[in-house]
Amino acid sequence: MSCIFCKIIANEIPSERVYEDDKVIAFKDINPATPVHILVIPKVHIEGVHEIDSENSHYVARAFEVIRTLAEEFHLEKGYRVITNVKEYGGQSVPHLHFHLLGGKNLGEKII
Ligand code: AMP
Ligand code: ZN
Repeated sequence: MSCIFCKIIANEIPSERVYEDDKVIAFKDINPATPVHILVIPKVHIEGVHEIDSENSHYVARAFEVIRTLAEEFHLEKGYRVITNVKEYGGQSVPHLHFHLLGGKNLGEKII
């Protein structure tokens, strides 16, 4: 298995975990773009949004429940952004579905 995020799930490479349950884990991004930059990922290898279907979408639902609670835990009550990049043109560098939780400062209105 060569997927770096599957290796993080399996504890084969370290991460700074901030949450884990039966469906998802969350850990700090190694190269944070904002003061709070957390990645929330399913514990199964879904490559990206393009592989979400009715069989695996419960992982996505859980990921967003966790994003909500992490936003509270990390005091993002003023607001935050959730991003997921998809495939080459979407700038996805790790082909394992992940949601970036970004916050801790005013991110402005522009997405790109
Ligand atoms: P993306 O470009 O949307 O695929 O995002 C991949 C993210 O994973 C980037 O923000 C990287 O900084 C982050 N990343 C890559 N390797 C690790 C790692 N070992 N631990 C934590 N974050 C990582
Ligand atoms: Zn994976």
